Amino acid sequence: MNGPASADRKSPEEAPRTERLTVTALRRAVSIRLWGGKGCGAPCDFCRVLVSPTEVEYEVEAQLDGQPVTLHFHPRCHETWKTECESLAGQAAQQGAKNSR
Ligand SMILES: [Zn+2]
Repeated sequence: MNGPASADRKSPEEAPRTERLTVTALRRAVSIRLWGGKGCGAPCDFCRVLVSPTEVEYEVEAQLDGQPVTLHFHPRCHETWKTECESLAGQAAQQGAKNSR
C-alpha cells in the first residue's frame, strides 16, 4: 500500500547501509567469514562503541535470516558474541529436545 501518504514523507537523510541490529538479531547471525584490520570508523555492532583507527577491528561477514550482513566488532566483543551465539545454540537445542514429542 504505497498510497499518496508516501508523498508527504520526506526521504530519510542518508539511510545507513547497515541497520543497527538488536542483540537478539546478532545472536541469530551466522558468521561466514572473519577478517581483522584497523578500525574503519564503524561502530562495534556489539557494544555500539566506535572502533577507533588505532584499534583492531574484526569484520565478520555473516548471514542473518538469509540476508548477508557485515558486522564490526572489537576483538573482545567478537569473543563475547561468539560465546553468546554458542550458548544460545545450546539452549535452543535443549529446548528443542524438551519440546519434542
Ligand atoms: Zn565492541
